[in-house]
Amino acid sequence: MITISDVKKIFQTKNGTVSAVDGVDMTIKDGEIFGVIGYSGAGKSTLIRMLNGLEVPTDGSVDVNGQLISQAKGRSLREARQSMGMIFQHFNLLWSRTVLENIQFPLEIAGVSKKERIKKANELLNLVGLEGRGDSYPSQLSGGQKQRVGIARALANDPKVLLCDEATSALDPQTTDSILDLLVDINDRLGLTIVLITHEMHVIRKICHRVAVMDSGKVVEEGDVLDVFRNPREEVTKRFVKEVSQQQESDDVLEHCQDGKVLKLTFVGESTDQPLITALIRRFDIEVNILQGQISQTQKGAFGTLFIQLTGDPLIVDQAVAFAENQVKVEVMER
Ligand code: ADP
Repeated sequence: MITISDVKKIFQTKNGTVSAVDGVDMTIKDGEIFGVIGYSGAGKSTLIRMLNGLEVPTDGSVDVNGQLISQAKGRSLREARQSMGMIFQHFNLLWSRTVLENIQFPLEIAGVSKKERIKKANELLNLVGLEGRGDSYPSQLSGGQKQRVGIARALANDPKVLLCDEATSALDPQTTDSILDLLVDINDRLGLTIVLITHEMHVIRKICHRVAVMDSGKVVEEGDVLDVFRNPREEVTKRFVKEVSQQQESDDVLEHCQDGKVLKLTFVGESTDQPLITALIRRFDIEVNILQGQISQTQKGAFGTLFIQLTGDPLIVDQAVAFAENQVKVEVMER
C-alpha cells in the first residue's frame, strides 16, 4: 500500500517560491491501477517523483509498502527504489546499448550474475512482446517498441510498484492503446500496483481503477473511475470527462424529432449489458428510434449515454418511459 500524507513540495526559484504540491493525501491499494490526471503544471510529476524519492517532500510523508520513502537515505533509499520500477514519456533508454543490455542494466546495478541477468532479460523480452529483438538498438525500434523496452527494464527487479510518468504521451493513439493493454496485462499477471500520471482522460478511462484529479498542487477530486465519470463535481474534472464522452448538445438531437418522447438514457457499470432496447420493443407496441449515443468501456464496466425517441400511443409511451426508468437513469428531454 502507498500512503501519502499531507505532502507538500515547495521549490525555491530565482523569482520566489513555487508551491508544486500543496497538501496532498492519497492512499493507493496493492494491485490497483491508480491514475493522477491534471493539466500541465498541476504538480503530477513532482508528486510521482516523491513516490520513489527522486524528490524529497518539503513537508508530510510518503510510505510505500511500510517504508518511509520521504525519510529514507543512502542504502535504504536505494533498496526501496529497487522495489519500484518507473517508465517515462521519452523512454530514457541507453542508446549505445542493445535492447537486452538495456533490460539487464538494473540487474547489473543490483549485482545479479551475468547468467541470471540474461535469463531474466529474455523472460521480460517475451513478456513485453519483443521476442527476437534483443540484439537491436533502441534507435532501430518504433516508439511503442521503445516503451516496451522501458517497461521490461522497469520490471527487471520484480518491483511491487510500477510508476508511469506520461508513458504514452509521445505515442500515437493506436500505439498508446497497445501499451495500455500491456500495462493491464502486467497488472493482471503480476499483480503489481501501477501509479500513472497523465493529462489524457482516455488513459484513465481505459485502464485505471481509481483516479485523482490534480489542480494547482492539490487533489480536487478522487474516486472510482466510473463514479468520477458519472458524477464529475469540479469544473476541471468536467472538462476532462467531456474530452472522452464528446457528447453533442442535446439540442441537436431534439431539432429533428417532433413526435413522441425523446429520452436520454445514462448507462453506468453493468447496466449496458441489459438488453433494454430489445425489452422496450418487445413489451410495448411503440416505435423505438436510436438517435445518438456513445458508450465507453472502463476497467469496471461501461458508461455512456444514448438518446432514443419513442413514438406511438402516448399512454403506452408513458408506460415504456416508466419501464426504462426502472432499468437505467432516464431523462425525458424537454422541447
Ligand atoms: P505537471 O507534472 O502536472 O506538469 P510539475 O510537477 O512538473 O507539474 O510542476 C508543478 C509546478 O512546479 C510547476 O509550476 C513547475 O514549474 C514547478 N516546478 C517543478 N519542478 C520544479 C523545479 N525543479 N524547480 C522549480 N519549479 C519546479
